[in-house]
Amino acid sequence: MAKLSFKDVNLRDKRVLTRVDFNVPIDNNGNILDDTRIRKVLPIIKYILQNKGKGKLILASHLGRPKAREETLKMDKVGKKLEDLLKAERIGEFKVTKLDDCIGEQVEKYVKRSKENEIILLENLRFYKEEENNDDGFARKLAFLGDIYINDAFSASHRAHASIVGVPKYLKTAMGVLFEKEINSLTKLISSPERPYLLILGGAKVSDKLPLLKNLIKIVDEIIIGGAMAYTFIAAKGVPVGKSKVETNLFDTAKELLSIAESKNIKINLPVDHLTAEKIENDAKIFIEETISSERIGVDIGPKTTEQFSKRIKEAKTIFWNGPMGVYEIPRFQGGTKIIANEISKSKAFKVAGGGDTQGVVINFNLEDKFDLVSTGGGATLEFLEGKELPGYAAIHNK
Ligand code: AMP
Repeated sequence: MAKLSFKDVNLRDKRVLTRVDFNVPIDNNGNILDDTRIRKVLPIIKYILQNKGKGKLILASHLGRPKAREETLKMDKVGKKLEDLLKAERIGEFKVTKLDDCIGEQVEKYVKRSKENEIILLENLRFYKEEENNDDGFARKLAFLGDIYINDAFSASHRAHASIVGVPKYLKTAMGVLFEKEINSLTKLISSPERPYLLILGGAKVSDKLPLLKNLIKIVDEIIIGGAMAYTFIAAKGVPVGKSKVETNLFDTAKELLSIAESKNIKINLPVDHLTAEKIENDAKIFIEETISSERIGVDIGPKTTEQFSKRIKEAKTIFWNGPMGVYEIPRFQGGTKIIANEISKSKAFKVAGGGDTQGVVINFNLEDKFDLVSTGGGATLEFLEGKELPGYAAIHNK
C-alpha cells in the first residue's frame, strides 16, 4: 500500500505539526558544529510555509541524549540557526519562536495566538522520558498541537518513540520531502535495481555490517570490501594481516559469507595491497605492501587495489556505498577512500552513499551533489537495507 506524502494532504489553514531531525552535533556550550540536518529539512519547511495559508507550522525534534532539562540541549540555538538559514535561502521573513516546552496548555495557547509569519519550534522532545518510552499520553498531548502530522525525520524512523509512532495514532500522518526522497531511493536499492549492482563496504567492523551484508548478498551482483572490515575476511582465509584490526570471533562467519557468495556467483573483491604503518598517527612512516608485515597495521587500500576497485565501479549500474576504505580521519590515510568516492561520484550508475557516518565522508570530500542520494539516515538507512521494517515508516498513513 502506498504511503501518504506531504503532496497528498491539504495543509490550507491547518496547524501542521512537523517532526524533523534537528539533532545537530554541538560542542560543550551547545554551539552548533554542523547545520546539515537543519538544511536538509528546509524543503519541507518551505513547502508548508507556501501551502499552509493562515495555518501554523509547529516543528518538533529531539537534540542529544538529555538526562534532565540540560541547558546545552535546549533548542534555542537551533531556532536561531533555522531563522538565519530561512533568511539566507530567501524563503521569506519568518520569525522562529522557540517555546520552553513541547506539550501542555501554555504551548497550546501560544500556538493559537501565534502569527502567520511565525514558525513555532517546540522544546527538545527528549526532555520528557515519555518520548523515548513511547508514552501514549505524551503522544496525545503532542497531537493536540496539530491538525495534521508530517514526519520528515527519516533518520529517527527506526525508533519507536512517541513522536515517531505515537502521534500518528491521533493525527493524519504523511511523510515529508526528505523522508520521501530517502524511502524512494533506498527502495530502488532493494527492489529491481539496475544491474550490475555493486555493494561497496568499508569501515571499522564486520560485526556492525553483518545484517546489511547478509541481506544485500541476496540482491547484489558484486561486492567490494575495504577498510578494517577487509582484514577479518583476509585473515579468515589464512593470509597474515600483521597488527591490523580483525575480529577473530567472526572468521567462521566471514568464511561462510565468502562461500555463500561463491555459490551464488557473486564476486567479493578484497584488497590486494595495502597502505600500512606501525601506528595510526599522521606522522607514521608509511609502506605499500601486498602482504602486511607482522609489526604493521593496514590503514588504507593500496594503489593496485584502488585501480581494481575503480574498474569495478565503472562497470556498475547501481552502487550502494557504506564505510571508508581506511582511517580517513587521518589525512595521509584517506587517499584510497577519496579516490573511491570520486570514482563513484563520476559513475553513471544510480548511486547512493549512506549509513553510519558515510554521509560525513561524502560531505567532507565535497561530493554530495554528485550522488543520487547521500542518505541522512545513519542507523535508519542501515536497518532499512537490512530488510527491517522501520516503525516510523510503518506509522505513516496509507493513501
Ligand atoms: P563505520 O562507522 O563502520 O563506517 O567505520 C568508520 C570507521 O572505520 C572510521 O572511523 C575509520 O577510521 C575506521 N577504519 C576504516 N578503515 C580502518 C582501518 N584499516 N583500520 C582501523 N580503522 C579503520
